[in-house]
Amino acid sequence: MSNHYPLHLFDSYRRDIVKFESIEPEKVGLYACGPTVYDFAHIGNLRTYLLVDLLRRTLEFNGYQVNHVMNITDVGHLVSDADSGEDKMEKGSRKRKQSAWDIALYFEECFFKDLNLLNIKTPGIVCRATDHIDEQIEFVKALEEKGFTYETSDGVYFDTAKLDDYGHLARLDIQGLQAGARVEFKEKRNITDFALWKFCGDEPRQMKWQSPWGEGFPGWHIECSAMAERYLGTMFDIHLGGEDHIAVHHSNEIAQSQARYKTHMANFWMHGYFLQIDKQKVAKSGKSILLSDLVEKKFDPLAYRYLALTSHYRSRLNFTWQSLEGASRALSRLRRVMLTYPDGGKVDESYSRQFVAKLNHDLNTPEALAVLWKLVQSQVSAADKKATILYFNQLLGLNLHNIKADEVIIPDDVIRLAEQRILVRKNQDWQASDRLRDVILEQGYAVEDLKPGYRITPVKMDQDNE
Ligand code: AMP
Ligand code: ZN
Repeated sequence: MSNHYPLHLFDSYRRDIVKFESIEPEKVGLYACGPTVYDFAHIGNLRTYLLVDLLRRTLEFNGYQVNHVMNITDVGHLVSDADSGEDKMEKGSRKRKQSAWDIALYFEECFFKDLNLLNIKTPGIVCRATDHIDEQIEFVKALEEKGFTYETSDGVYFDTAKLDDYGHLARLDIQGLQAGARVEFKEKRNITDFALWKFCGDEPRQMKWQSPWGEGFPGWHIECSAMAERYLGTMFDIHLGGEDHIAVHHSNEIAQSQARYKTHMANFWMHGYFLQIDKQKVAKSGKSILLSDLVEKKFDPLAYRYLALTSHYRSRLNFTWQSLEGASRALSRLRRVMLTYPDGGKVDESYSRQFVAKLNHDLNTPEALAVLWKLVQSQVSAADKKATILYFNQLLGLNLHNIKADEVIIPDDVIRLAEQRILVRKNQDWQASDRLRDVILEQGYAVEDLKPGYRITPVKMDQDNE
């Protein structure tokens, strides 16, 4: 669509909603931090990948060709962000009694299955950390040459004090952090310094590589810097991850780029806020719900996608089964109306302008959905409603094409009416039976008698309005 409200996005670096402009015309380089594949992704992780997908669809909708890159963290960064504690891959390997390499492949596969169930488009480039060790070593070498590194007994570290504005993204209070954590530094010069390369140490390790500093494995942050540069260059358009990445992971990626190239890596830094369960943090090792748990409870995975769309990505979303139930009902209602609308309509200009304006204003999905429901209730013809909602669906990704009748959940009150009808038919009250059939029809469903029982199906509507 021409002359719609231009895309604006919130940039965490500037802390402001800014008009989006790409570095190269009509092209966008997008890097989204990928999963650590030592366990299943939980629905919190998946909220972030739904955001990436929404962003990508919105960019494509605005006419950009998106070069979408995602890494797979298949080399174990350490359990704590402070470069101490256990290695996640080795831990996963011990827990499941398989090699670290097999664990990584297995959970990577599971991750892509989940993305598929949620109708999330696969990134154009998926790159594994273990396939890019050379690039990471090269990056560390460059930082060493520029004097940003030092060695301790357990690894090569980045000296964050060498940068004037380390931690700008997170507006870190370095002095406060430094004062609060005197004991934990050990050999680190500053509390915010982080590992670029770790030595193997005494523990036996499955994943290790030779390097100029000795046998070991790369730090986590260098992985994204090295692969983003390889596929997108030293300064690209958008870098995205969950809110937890602001203070450590992304601050450190920026530090590495500033040290090596004097750039802050990406024009836009975007962060998805967390999904919580019972107002608590979700964690892979802790309180967690998986997509397979939803499927087991007979929820359509796309009901979760709908639920994610009901909240803005820059606010936390508290997951409850009740809210998923609500999302599932809303999606079913949407499918039902779509099933009843005839083909052959055209996209309604006014509603589509409103809808795009909401999404283009920092991906305001709750308000975009409100526009959609306003359209459903409007005087617009049923055929035009269908065409317009299918147009919206390019962004929503709710698979609203080719809906099958059995994907529509029949509302409880309609089922109650049908049950009541069975009763009156037993009493041979045919008048009451016909009356109930009409009431059910008014709600948009046809009831058909079977022996025994009945079947309810959504009906196509001939009239223009719902
Ligand atoms: P991980 O596999 O732990 O490296 O995380 C993959 C992505 O999920 C990262 O972008 C995280 O920031 C994000 N993430 C982790 N926990 C949550 C959560 N509870 N809600 C939303 N995103 C999350
Ligand atoms: Zn990353």
